[in-house]
Parts: sequence; C-alpha cells; structure tokens
Amino acid sequence: MRGLMQDWSLTVDRIIDHAARVHATREVITRRTDGTIHRTDYATIRHRAKRVSAALRKIGIGLGDRVATLAWNSERHMECWYGAMGIGAVLHTLNPRLHPDQLAWISHDAGSRILILDTSFIGLIETVREQLPFEHYIVIADAQTLPDNSLDAMPYEEWIAGADDAPEWGGFDEKTACGLCYTSGTTGNPKGVLYSHRSNVLVSLMALGKGALGIAPDDIVMPIVPMFHANAWALAFAAPAAGAKLVMPGGQLDGASVFELLDKERVTFAAAVPTVWLSLLHHLRQHGLALPWLRRVVIGGAALPVAILRAFEEDYDVEVVHAWGMTETSPIGTIGGVPAALAQADEATHVAQQLKQGRPPFGVELRITDENGRDLPWDGASPGRLMVRGFAVAGAYFNGAGGEILDEHGFFDTGDMATIDTHGTMQITDRAKDVIKSGGEWISSIEIENITLSHPAIANAAAIGVPHPKWDERPLLVVELRSGHSIGADELRAHLDGRIARWWMPDEYVFLNAIPLGATGKVNKAALRKIIRNR
Ligand code: ADP
Repeated sequence: MRGLMQDWSLTVDRIIDHAARVHATREVITRRTDGTIHRTDYATIRHRAKRVSAALRKIGIGLGDRVATLAWNSERHMECWYGAMGIGAVLHTLNPRLHPDQLAWISHDAGSRILILDTSFIGLIETVREQLPFEHYIVIADAQTLPDNSLDAMPYEEWIAGADDAPEWGGFDEKTACGLCYTSGTTGNPKGVLYSHRSNVLVSLMALGKGALGIAPDDIVMPIVPMFHANAWALAFAAPAAGAKLVMPGGQLDGASVFELLDKERVTFAAAVPTVWLSLLHHLRQHGLALPWLRRVVIGGAALPVAILRAFEEDYDVEVVHAWGMTETSPIGTIGGVPAALAQADEATHVAQQLKQGRPPFGVELRITDENGRDLPWDGASPGRLMVRGFAVAGAYFNGAGGEILDEHGFFDTGDMATIDTHGTMQITDRAKDVIKSGGEWISSIEIENITLSHPAIANAAAIGVPHPKWDERPLLVVELRSGHSIGADELRAHLDGRIARWWMPDEYVFLNAIPLGATGKVNKAALRKIIRNR
C-alpha cells in the first residue's frame, strides 16, 4: 500500500522559492572585489536567478548541461547556482586555487560550455584559454566595471538584463543532477562528485538540525568556506531554507577582513577551515579585539587544533563545532560535541570529546574496518579504515572515474583512518596516505600537529613519515613560525615531551618560512614531502 501524502519533490529551487516568499526581505550581504558592500535580499536573488535561467536557456542550456563558475562567495554566484539548478542544469564549481592546467583538465572532464567568472580570475583564465572548452564567458560585472579582456566576455548584468522571460523551475525528478564538484586530486586526477537535488535538499535539512549546524531564522550566517569547496558546506542552501541572513565575504579571507565583516554585520554563525580561524585569532590578539556577536563557529576540512578550541571558547565565548566531511559526503559526515552521557564528566574529558570529529547525524552511517574489510570494535582505541554510507554520499564519480567505489555493503571508503568510541563518536587518526608507520605501529600525524599548534610561536605544523632503515618510517615535524617568534628544535621537543608517547617524538624538526597549502586551504603533504626530499 502506498502512502497518500503529496508528491512534493526535493529540488533545490524550492529552497529559494521558500526564502523569497517567507523571508523575502531577509538580507544577503556581499563584499565585492573592490571592497564595497552590496546589500540585497532573498526575493531579489530569486528574481535575478530566474533571469539567469532565461539567459542560460537563450544559449541552449537545459536539463543536464553543465554550467561552470569560477567565483568567490557572493549573491551573484548564488543567483547562478539557483538559476542553473532551477532548470535542471548542473552547476559546476571550479576552484581558482588549482593549477591552471588542472582547471583545464577538469573543465574538459566536466564538459561545461559556459564559464561564469569573477573579474579577479580573468587573468588566470586568459593564460589557459586555448586549453579550455568554453563557448561562452560571462564576467560577474556590469558594462562599466568589465575589465579589458581577450575572452570575448559578456558582462553578467547585461547578460541577465537581456533575458526577460521567467522559465519554470523544477518539474524534473528529484534525483536529477544538480551540482558538480571535483575532489582535490592529491592522489591521481581530480574526480567529479555529482550531487543530486535530493541529496542537496536532504543535506541542507540535516544541517538545520540542532545536533548538526543548528541554523535558525535569527542567525546571521557567514560561509567563509568558499562555494567551490564542497558546496560551501551546504550553507548557500541551508541559510535561505532557514531564513537566516547571509553574509558573503568575497575573496578577502585574511584575519582583518574576516573580522571586519563578522563585527559590522553582527554575524552569529560562521564556517571555515582551521587556517582561516588561525589567522582571525592572530588578528584579534594583535589588536585586542572581541567577538561580541559571534555565537558559533564550524571548523572542518582539517582537524581542530586544541589552541583554536580554547581560544574561541575561553577567550571569546564562542561555541566551537568541529565537523568532519568530504566533497563525497556533501560534505556533512560527523558533528563534534560532548555526548549527553558525558555532560557531568570533567573538563579534560569534554575537551577530548570536542577534539574528536564527532557523531554522524541521522542519514550518515559509519563503519571502521581492518585491512580485510572486517568490522572493528567501537572502543575508541582500534583505528581502521573509515567507511561511510548515506543519502548524500557519492555512489560513483562523474564519467565513471575510479570505477566501482562502493564495497559489497554499499559503503564508500573515505581514505581516512579513524576510531569510534562507545558513544559513537568518531576520531580521525590520519588520512590513510599520511599515516606514519613506525615499527609496525601507527603514529597519528594529526595528534602531533595538534599539540605542536598549541605552542604560541607556531603558525602551522605538519608531521610526515620519512623512510627509516630499522623502523620503516619515523616522524619528521615541519613547522612554520609566527612572525616575530624564534624558537629552536629543543624548545619544540620540550613542548611535545610528555604530551605524546616517547616513540612518537619526531626524529627531526624542520623550520620552513611557509608550509605549502592545497586548494582548499589545508596543508599539502604531497608538496611538503617533495620539499623535504629535495632539501
Ligand atoms: P580536499 O582533499 O580537496 O581537501 P575534501 O575537502 O573533500 O577534499 O577533504 C576531505 C578530507 O579532509 C577528509 O577525507 C579528511 O581527511 C579531511 N578532513 C575533513 N574534515 C576533517 C576534520 N574535522 N578532521 C580531520 N580531517 C578532516
């Protein structure tokens, strides 16, 4: 017997329809490339997104066609998302921090015919234009602000002004493809993750839950994490779904610029990778500033260092939510916090729990397995490969890259190593490829890095394994000092001594002026290993 409820398909256009009707005048703020602040609202975004749909239709873009963007977080980038997705086209976000050759490779793989880009990326695209498949270039600008370029580009404002009908949105199956985002490709070529309307709507609803990101109508949400990084962690959907005000920071993500927007716009909720938070905290300390409006920050994409947790909670009274996820999980995988069963436990236990990556919200299933694919116990002490299954987890990559990616139970291998404790809380011990194996036992690079980062002189840290004749591998610790600080290996050794097991102590300490970061702002260990090899 079938249920008798309405057939209301889960397509993302309904999110902006809802926001435009119920929260019509709720503001969306953008800091433009020139630093000026632009103010609009959900009703206007929906109206202009319809024009984007019409402009796309005019050049023959429809169901299943890919539309590429190369842009920072802005209200116009959002219009492109909803405009493309609403007519069943697939919005493909390109990451400007990738090497131009990689951008070209990805654009071909995705097969997009049109690229919509920020003015600041014109130069980047001009350098590889010959290698790109695009027939149309639209620059997010108007006729007056469009810089000279060799792309034959059309200014966005004129492009949408010339399209005045308002195509219908939706009307297709909720499993229709909606977004395309490539993984970083630190191992092999990048692979495309093809989100569906259904997976994006469900992950956005999941994000609203109090046990997840807990975004409410009275929140002022700033996605510092870019829209090209795993869907801006669902925030460009979840904020309008909740009716929260949105603050889009554009491309200036340094501590001073982030602070200015947090403060002026009274942001209550923000999300970013640890490197962004480190630079904000540094700015706050340097200038003796406070964060009176901010209530909650989400930190994900890389492990939460204890120094960030303590600074936010103790010095600035801001709640820290540690989250784990990947492009392949849309990206919410687990959400950190103290389980109710431990509410009365001591402070050290609370901190240890908060540093773990957390528990999966409903809709995400986890397993940890040994090398034979057998389940390991949830005892908080047995690290295994982290496997994941759920309504917003990739089942295959775009164009069949990587072939079959699920095991016989339908679980995806995350490539992460993790433990899960009796409370169901998961802790990443390493990326499988970053694990340091010494004398047959694993050393967690993440834990060494975390403790190193709690030293006030350290700006960034990375532990890597280097070959060793007896022990197979031994840890080497690379650090980047804060400007104005100078410490040596002895002080670092003393800092780690007693905080990690004796045999985890790095054999060597290397000081670099800058630790290389990857396209999503995390330490690029592949590049770092090369630097260390070529010393
Ligand atoms: P990229 O490789 O481009 O950064 P993703 O953003 O999809 O791609 O990265 C996902 C990976 O980032 C995870 O598999 C995991 O290794 C790491 N990661 C994400 N969040 C955390 C976290 N909170 N703690 C530790 N590692 C994390």
